[in-house]
Amino acid sequence: MAQYDYDLITIGAGSGGVRASRVAASQFGARVAIVENSRVGGTCVMRGCVPKKLLIYGAHFSEEAEDATGYGWTVDGVRHDWPALIANKNRELQRLEGVYHRLLRDAGVTLLEGRGRVVDAHTVEVDGTPHTAEHILIAVGGWPSLPAIPGIEHAITSNEALDLPARPDRVVVVGGGYIAVEFAGIFNAFGSRVTEIIRAGQILRGFDEDVRDTLAAEMEKKGIRVRRECQVHSIEKQPDGSLSLLTDCGEDITTDAVMYATGRSPNTKGLGLAEAGVTLDPHGAVVVDQANRSSVPSIAAIGDVTNRVNLTPVAIKEGMAFALSTFGSAPTRVDYADIPSAVFSQPPVGTVGLTEAQARAQGPVDIYLSRFRPMKVTLSGRDEKTMMKLIVSRETDRVVGAHMVGADAAEIIQGIGIAIKAGATKAHFDATVGIHPTAAEEFVTMRDPVPDPSFEHTE
Ligand code: NDP
Repeated sequence: MAQYDYDLITIGAGSGGVRASRVAASQFGARVAIVENSRVGGTCVMRGCVPKKLLIYGAHFSEEAEDATGYGWTVDGVRHDWPALIANKNRELQRLEGVYHRLLRDAGVTLLEGRGRVVDAHTVEVDGTPHTAEHILIAVGGWPSLPAIPGIEHAITSNEALDLPARPDRVVVVGGGYIAVEFAGIFNAFGSRVTEIIRAGQILRGFDEDVRDTLAAEMEKKGIRVRRECQVHSIEKQPDGSLSLLTDCGEDITTDAVMYATGRSPNTKGLGLAEAGVTLDPHGAVVVDQANRSSVPSIAAIGDVTNRVNLTPVAIKEGMAFALSTFGSAPTRVDYADIPSAVFSQPPVGTVGLTEAQARAQGPVDIYLSRFRPMKVTLSGRDEKTMMKLIVSRETDRVVGAHMVGADAAEIIQGIGIAIKAGATKAHFDATVGIHPTAAEEFVTMRDPVPDPSFEHTE
């Protein structure tokens, strides 16, 4: 008789947890249970990437309508029905939730609905009932984290922003990361008056400086007010329902909604991990080795709860690697180099490899940079610029970074990511024939590096 109830109990049915559980059960015949206290699908499918992208698609139609007039269309009486968008989005999420349930069922994974808590190295309690397993996988993801300022209870996060019954006329978005710029763009495109408040000097810390500056300028052209080096001290609800924000940058703001996107914290509170001997970092993230093992050998963790690279496709790769390593015969490691990513801002950002600053710290580089007006907006007269940038190692000729701000950046950078992963040199890019007329062809036609600032002299 088996020593444990299951071979694997996964806590968290998000993208990473579901992939690990399905592979363990269907490819290796492991007896697997997955614990979930909310909707199967997790952050990305239910509260993140998927509903966000649907809203972004919806948002783009306002500019499409603007462009259409330049092409001879008469676009009269364009109106948007926010509740219809939210209802349609929710219907799609329900469908996807059904798909995830079916995937788990077909793989033979048992769904334990309720809140999981780790009791010891081999036991998970679900709403008080103990279940045992040889391996426990923590895949509980993260949750928005908000600063403790007076009135913060009046703020919403991306969770609520995706489900607002009505679109607020005025919105303040606090934060300058992925989520903040994406939602600032969404609300702005649907017609809200958006102010984005960032404590730093520029949005998107950690991204290439040309990406940061270009996107901020484009967002401001579209009407988003970006307040830099600014912090909100308090939020007060007024009798008329509006919110008054007291800031330290010389401007107090009245708004209808304030959304905080000030980072996310690992979801480990109350999970019993520290008590079971699992080492957590100061932010509550599970500390894991290269094989995703925690300090307790039978307990592993993947995805945002480990707070390494907080992206869904990375969590899925980690889940896959865990299943192959634990139940298969070949230890598998995730390769974290050159992970492409996108910010679904307006216009979007696509990026892969090193920023210019990171590359310069490693050795001499040539920079190729192109700014141009996308052909699509030439007839409509819409004022939008695209920026593309390649960073090339002078020593090896390898393209070590590619960055883009502009329409379809995510779609374009995905392909460039393959080239960079394969070690492509600038000579390979130059030898590639462009597809004309596209924006993407610019990546293979940039011939002259920008003048190197280290060669410039001051009198
Ligand atoms: P990020 O870590 O990207 O950004 C947090 C932002 O909040 C930063 O601008 C930071 O400012 C600011 N901030 C932090 N604390 C405070 C504070 N107390 N007061 C004011 N500002 C503050 O977090 P997000 O919430 O945007 O996203 C979380 C993660 O989710 C991302 O890192 C990403 O991995 C993932 N994600 C990915 C997406 C994608 O791939 N398209 C989309 C959405 C999320 P500062 O720069 O000064 O530190």
